[in-house]
Amino acid sequence: MKVTDHIKNARASLFSIEILPPLKGKSIQSIYDSIDPLMEFKPAFVDVTYHREEYVYRKRGGNLLEKISIRKRPGTVGICAAIMNKYKVDAVPHIICGGFSKSETENALIDLNFLGVDNILALRGDSIKTETAFVPEPDGHNYALDLVEQVVDMNKGKFLDEELRDALPTNFCIGVAGYPEKHFEAPNMKSDLKYLLEKVETGSNYIVTQMFFDNSKYFEFVRRCRAIGITIPIIPGLKVITTRTQASVLSKVFHIDIPEMLLDEIEKCKTDKEVAEVGIEWCISQSKELYNSGAPCLHYYTMGNSNHTRRVAAAIF
Ligand code: FAD
Repeated sequence: MKVTDHIKNARASLFSIEILPPLKGKSIQSIYDSIDPLMEFKPAFVDVTYHREEYVYRKRGGNLLEKISIRKRPGTVGICAAIMNKYKVDAVPHIICGGFSKSETENALIDLNFLGVDNILALRGDSIKTETAFVPEPDGHNYALDLVEQVVDMNKGKFLDEELRDALPTNFCIGVAGYPEKHFEAPNMKSDLKYLLEKVETGSNYIVTQMFFDNSKYFEFVRRCRAIGITIPIIPGLKVITTRTQASVLSKVFHIDIPEMLLDEIEKCKTDKEVAEVGIEWCISQSKELYNSGAPCLHYYTMGNSNHTRRVAAAIF
């Protein structure tokens, strides 16, 4: 079922989660182990992230270094199929522009369509760690907007081969990313929202936000989106801070603020166990306010550890 239909049918904020594929060589059981404790809260959908290749240097004989491309967390499409099969819940694969030509994207979407996947989250993806800026594939997409356009075309039965006649349209519900604290490359919020509006006008059906720890940022983001004519659901993304180092790492990696009051509480903690308690309480309080304000769905970034999300879900759903 489409995410937007889940939202339409819901009487209150829905619960959803995002998981990461396991590291290469690990079993799918680790995915089940992280989903199992959350199933009693009936997630409307489970997002599965996509991780592109990275370059690493391996030592070879004679002081030589070989540059190798590896994907540490492959398996997004297979995991989506496995989740839908095991839990009868909608899985939402993240599809990125980075590393994909348009025809590879088309083939991936055809696989997803055949598997009965109804939703995708269309993203640009970040640059490869060794590159300073995002570089699209030759014949790949530059922005998430272009990817949305390709999916919308397929939803109209328009594939890349112009001579293909009577192609059956796909019927994907398309989610895109939004940034309550602005995407780090955007010169300002107005510019970022302008491009978000373009993604929406091109045919996106819902927005999922980057994580934030201060609800006023989400409320202001929704207000500004509505003011420029974005009417589709805006799903808040939430995360429990569980370690002292996470506070600075999350801020650096995702370009988000950690509120002073939260950081002050974390700094008083003597152990990470205490930090996790602070993080859980903070997330419960954020979730309660968002739930009471009528947010369409509360989307939790589990990052491979569902125990903390479980505590939050138990307090809200
Ligand atoms: P875009 O919408 O393309 O925007 C990128 C930047 O370009 C923004 O600054 C925007 O303002 C600007 N821009 C957009 N269109 C134009 C234009 N036409 N001209 C000029 N500037 C433009 N990454 C992964 O690799 N895998 C994942 O699974 C993943 N999941 C995510 C899930 C969520 C909910 C979120 C919020 C992010 C996720 N990301 C993931 C990270 C995301 O890929 C990065 O934040 C990336 O840098 C931007 O992606 P985007 O889709 O927002 O890009």
